[in-house]
Amino acid sequence: MKRDKTVINHNGAEKLMDRLSGKHFPSMAGFVLLLLLYIAAYVFTARSSRAQGVLMLFGHPTPIASFTGVFSTLGNFCIIFLVVFYGKPGFFTAVGLLLVQLSLLLVQIIKEHNMAATPGMFSALFTILVTLLFYNNYLKTQKYQDRLRKQAITDRLTGLPNRFACSELINGLVERRERFAVVSIDLNHFKTINNTMGRATGNKVLAEIARRWAQAVNTGASGTRDFIACQGGVEFALVIQGYQTDAEIRRSIQYYNAALEQKLTLDDCDYYITARYGYAEYPIDADNGDTLLSYAFAAMYEAKRTAAQICRFSPDMLQTEQTLEIERKIRQALDNNTLCFYLQPQFDILHRLRGFEALARLKDEDGSFISPAQFIPVAEKAGLIDSVDRRVFRDSALFLGELIRRTGADLTLSVNVSARHLMRNDFLDEVRDIVNTCGFPVKDLEIEITESVMIDSAEEALNCINAIKQMGAKIALDDFGTGYSSLSYLNAFPADILKVDKSFIDKMNTSDSSKQYVAAIISIGHIMNFDVISEGVEEPEQLDTLRSIGCDYIQGYIWGRPLPPEEAEALVLRSVAA
Ligand code: C2E
Ligand code: CA
Ligand code: CA
Repeated sequence: MKRDKTVINHNGAEKLMDRLSGKHFPSMAGFVLLLLLYIAAYVFTARSSRAQGVLMLFGHPTPIASFTGVFSTLGNFCIIFLVVFYGKPGFFTAVGLLLVQLSLLLVQIIKEHNMAATPGMFSALFTILVTLLFYNNYLKTQKYQDRLRKQAITDRLTGLPNRFACSELINGLVERRERFAVVSIDLNHFKTINNTMGRATGNKVLAEIARRWAQAVNTGASGTRDFIACQGGVEFALVIQGYQTDAEIRRSIQYYNAALEQKLTLDDCDYYITARYGYAEYPIDADNGDTLLSYAFAAMYEAKRTAAQICRFSPDMLQTEQTLEIERKIRQALDNNTLCFYLQPQFDILHRLRGFEALARLKDEDGSFISPAQFIPVAEKAGLIDSVDRRVFRDSALFLGELIRRTGADLTLSVNVSARHLMRNDFLDEVRDIVNTCGFPVKDLEIEITESVMIDSAEEALNCINAIKQMGAKIALDDFGTGYSSLSYLNAFPADILKVDKSFIDKMNTSDSSKQYVAAIISIGHIMNFDVISEGVEEPEQLDTLRSIGCDYIQGYIWGRPLPPEEAEALVLRSVAA
């Protein structure tokens, strides 16, 4: 409990805690009004108790003295309201007033022998008693409510303000347009402590770290006004105010880091804890609390990724954060076997089914698909593309191999292989293994390679491609025309099929020169003994043109979108029956 105070009492955080814990007082005007009302009631009570006169009320003569009780009750109500609405100050004011009232009544009885004041005296004594009871009850409720509210804004494990308290503070600062920086802190390798020493020890270590940071906040030695909160788990947030330059923010962070990195001894074991820090600044980086926190988090992630200790947010990190999220999803899909494949049909120019291209599909948490254009480059960068290719290759070969055996259909399976994957020493073994275990006829297998492979490392690629061909599989040159296609390497390239990229098909009917360009690719392909397949055919006009310039195969939405395996199976069954 002591620990809470050290954190909370610093840097106006006390005000925040008061606001969060509901300690707001009704207006001063109400207080004064009750006070005046009480004094008026008291004066009228005293006057009316002595008055001899008679008042006409609703046509009846009424003695003024009979109003004494009404005024006295009104005064008592004022007293009770003071206690109920104004707590401690209300209570002391009420008791003070009652004691004055009591003294005046005693003077009247003793000095003036006014025995009519006796009931008033008893009434005042009784009101003091009631006031005491109300106040006692008020204190009990207040204590209970304080405890509940404090629990709601305090992290149980560390005793620091929690995520909610932190957001409230940040939102308050934003509302008042006060400049501040928010720092996201993540402890390095804390899992290891939990795993090796047990969760109980991990919790003790966390509590000790929190104690150190709370103390650091309280001493104010960082040179800035700070507030620290536990955001849950091993994630902390530091809010820094009162700095002038970026260097001062970093100096403050270093101050907390120094407190953290001091050797921590617990049950005779020494622990050396380190952390990474990312920060964002209001109003420079974002103009609202939530965005600012997420930016600080992105910067912290960047610090982790680049092994830097402190990172300031910059917009290009958002891309990194998104990329990391996609990478996580790919890993998860590979682990859980949820990465799947679709099959896009390829047809000859007479609309007879030639085969399918297997395309990777990654499902997002909401059931929608993440586009391969988005996740394939991430998989390449993260070194996961081999696993993705392998999974799609194996699963689609297993599926189509079984379908070919069952139906006797003559179908080609095209699989995409990234350059990186192709260059692996064990790539050929992998193809052999998949073909054997899946029982897929190797002559029906087509490996799609983009021309960049040839440009980057022509000799190695050529050896590999030759070996694939010796096995009996075919090679397709994917996205043809988008790279630096050169006739000289095309001549040396033992491909079987050229895949004309969609971008050329799109432009083909917009100008005569584009159409001539596609026609030239097809001619060159044929001269070199390649078959040509056009990708991304969507319009009947494109189809007509491709027919007229001698294209061999078509792959595009016009005749078939990528299909889930069951729909591809139905298509095969229909084509076999036809
Ligand atoms: P790609 O190999 O050129 O595959 C063809 C892409 O064009 C597919 O997109 C396909 O859905 C799309 N497409 C086909 N016909 C049409 C059409 O008529 N209109 C339009 N708008 N699009 C059409 P997808 O499935 O999004 O794949 C994108 C790229 O991702 C692929 O381009 C390929 O480079 C890569 N990819 C997909 N699966 C794998 C995989 O298993 N391994 C590797 N290494 N790359 C893959
Ligand atoms: Ca492809
Ligand atoms: Ca392509």
